[in-house]
Amino acid sequence: VSEAPRQMSHMTWPEVRAAVERGAGVILPLGSTEQHGLHLPLACDAICAADLALAVAEQTDCVVAPPIVYGYRSRPMSGGGQGFVGTTSISGQTLILTVRDVVAEFLRHGFRRIVLLNWHNENSNFMYEGAHLALEGRPGDEAKILVIESPFERLSDATMEELFAGDFPGWATEHAAIMETSVMLHLHPDLVHFDRAVDDRVARATPYEVLPVQPEFVTESGSLWKATRASAEKGERAWKEIVGPLVEAVLTELPVQAGA
Ligand SMILES: [Zn+2]
Repeated sequence: VSEAPRQMSHMTWPEVRAAVERGAGVILPLGSTEQHGLHLPLACDAICAADLALAVAEQTDCVVAPPIVYGYRSRPMSGGGQGFVGTTSISGQTLILTVRDVVAEFLRHGFRRIVLLNWHNENSNFMYEGAHLALEGRPGDEAKILVIESPFERLSDATMEELFAGDFPGWATEHAAIMETSVMLHLHPDLVHFDRAVDDRVARATPYEVLPVQPEFVTESGSLWKATRASAEKGERAWKEIVGPLVEAVLTELPVQAGA
């Protein structure tokens, strides 16, 4: 894997052309502008997605495109809902068409190894639809798109125990809580106000949603679980386990071409 520049936004167009010509891939990070409790910045999802993309890009000869920093509507039981000042979301239709248009541009540049890497739960399905639409009507095109809607499913048992001590509520509920706070403490401690972190939970958790959103499904802080249990050490440990399988997935589905 070459030492070529990775951040597309920092590259000149001939550098991007050179990346295309050597067979490099492109990773599009997807995040959100969404409240993340009293202690994390609105860009948490976009930062995690972009940093993850960079970590994967270095080991798979990809460049990282500028992230999509607005996400699909925040939902109460996975992101706190739309009631918080600062949470700035787009509709499903807008997200679908944004992904479609951006991927179509990557194809026009000549990229044939394309990765969509998401950190905001609610973007799922819409990003898949955008990727589908971008490829529609291009039969015979050898381009492949890897759609990663959830960057991880389950970490090793030892790490799950280290992070949650047998008290894991599910990833949707883990919003602005142990995992995201730990990862941000590891990556960007300067952006975390850890002294403001609180443990929180919704008054009622149900397997269904109610519209309009009912107050008992929304937490006061915006965190949905026990943010005070986070640490930089937990974040570092989890991060390694997240990056490894993603590198593997990209190399399996979109192998680096010989001579790259
Ligand atoms: Zn998040």
